[in-house]
Amino acid sequence: MKPLIGLSFDELAAEAERAGLPRFRARQLWHWIYVRGARDFARMSSLSKELRSRLAENYSLERPEVKTQQASDDGTRKWLLDMDDHAQVEMVHIPEVAGGRGALCMSSQVGCTLTCAFCHTGTQRWARNLTAGEIVGQVMAARDALEEWRKSSQNRVLNNLVFMGMGEPLFNYDEVAKAVRIIMDPDGIAISKRRITLSTSGVAPLMKRCGEELNVNLAVSLHAVNDALRDKIVPLNRKYPIRELLEACRSYPGASNARRITFEYVMLKGVNDSDADARALIKMLRPIPSKINLIPFNPWPGAPFECSKPERIARFGAMLNEAGYVSPIRRTRGADIMAACGQLKSASMRLPAAARAAMDALRREKEAAQGLAPAQGTVNSSH
Ligand code: SAH
Ligand code: SF4
Repeated sequence: MKPLIGLSFDELAAEAERAGLPRFRARQLWHWIYVRGARDFARMSSLSKELRSRLAENYSLERPEVKTQQASDDGTRKWLLDMDDHAQVEMVHIPEVAGGRGALCMSSQVGCTLTCAFCHTGTQRWARNLTAGEIVGQVMAARDALEEWRKSSQNRVLNNLVFMGMGEPLFNYDEVAKAVRIIMDPDGIAISKRRITLSTSGVAPLMKRCGEELNVNLAVSLHAVNDALRDKIVPLNRKYPIRELLEACRSYPGASNARRITFEYVMLKGVNDSDADARALIKMLRPIPSKINLIPFNPWPGAPFECSKPERIARFGAMLNEAGYVSPIRRTRGADIMAACGQLKSASMRLPAAARAAMDALRREKEAAQGLAPAQGTVNSSH
């Protein structure tokens, strides 16, 4: 059975044509899938019975399977999703406290090739990139679980997407881009580029392309104001140092005062949270239309850091504010179910040992071929 979710409109139209649906009517099929959330061809009442059964014989509308669901006291929900090959990723829905709307925190990879020192996902064994179908499938699965398909667009609680779950989205650019285009299609899921944020740990050379082609909001995980520290806590910095990263931010297509780049800054006690750090940050971001999101460090078992004290975070934030930056302190959400930023880690470790060994070997091979140190990522690697 060939999955239809994750095909571009043209690809879907070509498949549908093969099954007997004239190309100009392929929009109907797209509408059933992405506006109505149909999981069963039999219900697609605007298509002929014969066509429906031909589609059912050859194609599937499967999304990732929800293995477990947890709800936090604050309304945050976390799902563990199982892919076809049993690779697993976590996905989180964070409702706004008032108003019921909220963001879906999506994953782009199973695990992450990078090893940021403060990130739980980074301690997970690298498994593989997600496909466009699996990325779009996360939105579908969330709409299923939140019973969103029947609601009108004004009443939906899933209206923002952030690629802040597991993985580095720019290391899986092609599949993420394909998924984002499907998600943005105004005749389908229709979440606009203004409501989609891609967070990167700093893959400078791909940022321009991302801005030009997708023009989604950009968040950049900065976390340090000098290369010596950033090299240590965000190892990708050794490849794309701060100066190069900031240059890519400055020229990010579409960045303006009305559409700022979000810099994420995790507050690590005694590491990056001094007044001098705040002053350096203020100076460094001057040339860029920016806002700064201060993220209290979310602990995980065995983490080598502590979160800065609330007074320290408040003082750091106040300094940024006085200098004219919008600098919200991100409220920690879902920490009781390990669903907060940087706490996600799925059980890809539960993959059979042989499969793990094979993946590790592949990864090493690829890294050797690209001349990367083991801690560094591989652009568009496809394990
Ligand atoms: N790989 C991408 C997106 C996923 S991480 C990136 O690094 O940007 C989403 C955000 O959570 C990043 O800003 C990341 O630095 C931050 N983060 C990771 N671990 C964290 C932790 N333990 N506490 C708080 N924030 C964390
Ligand atoms: Fe990967 Fe982002 Fe975690 Fe770094 S912070 S290890 S890039 S998921």
